[in-house]
Amino acid sequence: MWNRVEATARGVFARYGFGEIRTPIFETTELFARGVGEETDIVSKEMYTWEDRGRAESDKGQSLTLRPENTAGVVRAYIEHGLADTGMLQKLFYIGPQFRRERPQRGRYRQFWQIGAEVLGPAWSGSDSALRDAEVLEMLATFLDELGVKGWRLALNSVGSSEDRPRYVAALREALAPVKGSMCENCQRRAETNPLRVLDCKEPQDQARIDALPKIADYLDEASQEHFAQVKAALDACGVSYVVEPRLVRGLDYYTRTTFEFTVPDGSGLGTQNALLGGGRYDGLSEMLGGPKAPGIGFAIGEDRLILTLQAQAKEAAEDKLDAFIAPMGVARNAEALKLAQELRRAGLSVEVGEGAFRLKKSFEAADKLARRMVILGEDEVASGILTVKDFAAGEQTKVPRSELAEALRR
Ligand code: AMP
Repeated sequence: MWNRVEATARGVFARYGFGEIRTPIFETTELFARGVGEETDIVSKEMYTWEDRGRAESDKGQSLTLRPENTAGVVRAYIEHGLADTGMLQKLFYIGPQFRRERPQRGRYRQFWQIGAEVLGPAWSGSDSALRDAEVLEMLATFLDELGVKGWRLALNSVGSSEDRPRYVAALREALAPVKGSMCENCQRRAETNPLRVLDCKEPQDQARIDALPKIADYLDEASQEHFAQVKAALDACGVSYVVEPRLVRGLDYYTRTTFEFTVPDGSGLGTQNALLGGGRYDGLSEMLGGPKAPGIGFAIGEDRLILTLQAQAKEAAEDKLDAFIAPMGVARNAEALKLAQELRRAGLSVEVGEGAFRLKKSFEAADKLARRMVILGEDEVASGILTVKDFAAGEQTKVPRSELAEALRR
C-alpha cells in the first residue's frame, strides 16, 4: 500500500512538472520558529528540540529540531541554493517523515509521513497566479482519484491578504464580545488571544453562534475576491467539485488567499471527517527566512491517514461482495455445484453459482465482480474432495478440503 501510494504520487506529480526535493530531517530550531510561527501549537508545544553541543570549545553549538513539517525546509533550500535566481517557477515535491509531540492514537503519531509539494518563485514567474492554485487542487483530485479514494471532499476558502485579515479579526472580536460569555472555555480564551481559532471549535453548543459570526468573504479586497473567483472558475472548468467553507482559515500572517483541505467521511474510523491533507497559498514566508519575495502555494498529505482510509475503503468494498462464487467446470458439474452451494448457503454463507457451460475466463470475470472468492469445481475436485479457491483481494489460489471450505470462506 505504501509503495502504491508513493508510486502514484511520483507518477501523477511528474505529469504536472514537479521534481523531488529531499531536505534534512533536522534543521535549526530557529528555522521552524520563524517559518512555522512561534505562537503556533506546533512550535510552542510539539517540536522535538535539543541543544547540540559544539564541535570545539570555542563553538557554542546550536539548538536543533526534528522537522515538524516540510515547507520551511523547502523554502530554506530554495533560498540557500539560489533557486530564486533562476527566475523560474519551482515545482517541488517531497515524501518523508515529520515529527510532532502528540498523544499517539489511531491516525495521529509522533513520527508520521507527509507527501507534500510547494510551487513557488518570483511573482514574475507566475507564482502568484490563481491558475497555480487551481492546478495544484486539480492535481490533488487526480491523485486521489487514481488511488481510488472514494468520497473525498474538497473544502475551499480564501483568507484574503495580510491587510484584509486584521479588519476581519477586528470584526470577529467585536461580534464575539457580547456572546463569548456563553461559549465554551476554549472559545472564551481564543476570543481574546486569537479570535480566528474560535472558528475551529467543535463544541456542538457553540456551532450556531459561530455560524452567525462575520464571514471572511465579506472582508476580502477586490484583488483577493478576483483571485478566488478565478480559482473557482478554473476548478469548474476542470470539473473538480469543492465546497466553499467560510470557517476554513489559517492564523499565520503569511497565509494569503486560497486555503483548502481534503477530507473523507468516516468509515475510516477517524471521526466524521478525516482530514487527509491541507494546504494554502502564502506570501512573505521566503522574506521571513531571509530570502527574496517568493509567493507560493503548497500542501501536505498525511500519508498514514491516507493509507488508513484506503485500507478501510478496501475492507468496506470487500464486505459488499458475496462470500463465494462457485464455478462448475462443464455442464456435467452443474448439479454438484448446486449441491455445494446449498451446503454453503445453509452454513450461512452468501453464494452465487456460475454455469458449467462458461469458459474458465468468463467464470473468473463474473466471480471477480460478484464475490470475494471463487471456488473451482472440476472433475478432479469432485473426485478428490479438495477444492481450488481463488482469493481476489489477496491474489492467491489455495487448495482447501471440502470439509474446511465453509470455514475458509468465512475468513
Ligand atoms: P498540517 O501540516 O498540520 O497541515 O497537516 C497536514 C496533514 O498531515 C493532515 O491533514 C494530516 O493528515 C497529517 N498529519 C498531521 N499531523 C499528523 C500526525 N501527528 N499523525 C499523522 N498524520 C498527521
